Amino acid sequence: MPPAAPEAPVKPPTSLVRRARKIHRVLAETYPEAGCELDFRTPFELLVATVLSAQTTDRRVNAVTPALFAAYPDAAALAAADRTAVEEIIRSTGFYRAKTDSVLGLSAALVERYDGEVPARLRDLVTLPGVGRKTANVVLGNAFDVPGLTVDTHFARLVRRFEWVDDDVAKDPVKTEHAVGALFPRRDWTMLSHRLIWHGRRRCHARKPACGACPVAHWCPAYGTGPTDPVEAARLVTTQGRA
Ligand code: SF4
Repeated sequence: MPPAAPEAPVKPPTSLVRRARKIHRVLAETYPEAGCELDFRTPFELLVATVLSAQTTDRRVNAVTPALFAAYPDAAALAAADRTAVEEIIRSTGFYRAKTDSVLGLSAALVERYDGEVPARLRDLVTLPGVGRKTANVVLGNAFDVPGLTVDTHFARLVRRFEWVDDDVAKDPVKTEHAVGALFPRRDWTMLSHRLIWHGRRRCHARKPACGACPVAHWCPAYGTGPTDPVEAARLVTTQGRA
């Protein structure tokens, strides 16, 4: 028997593509300032900041990275750092022992394998300690202009609420990445990620989304998950400041 032909990728229905792109356009108008909320000057700084951002806010990370990068400006310096000193600087971001392991380990790996430079390919980035696809896509999209989808908790929740993916796909971040990627041109992926995350942080909260004050309510199958009364919903909208 000849080997089975590989499964052709399933093309999403046109109606879904249209609705998804409409939502994206409205989010783009609603959040013109959306972007990476982590402060960084180099790919290395963004990589480290993204690792530190696990389980905490970008604001908290931005509070510690100036001191961290003043003391250790590049991979070689951080690879040679005293771990207690690093732990002390990043302690307030939580899980600081594991995060110290990651940032020291990834710095050493960059020095050993990439001459101290951050590689600009997903398959290289994900081999670094503490770096998964999500972190790799943040770095690719924001430091190298390589389009990437960042499937974090907000992204995953919103694409499920929008029914861009079904329950089965939603359980798997990589499947989610591919399914959502098929709805949009590649060039939109990085900004789409930012806009979804901004909407998730400011309006479409996990517990009580501000449905009555939501600019995409008209196209959202999950409208009504949170209060629909405009006054009550408006109180749930968080400020446009950095998260
Ligand atoms: S209508 Fe409600 S559930 Fe849908 S995106 Fe807006 S806030 Fe989220």
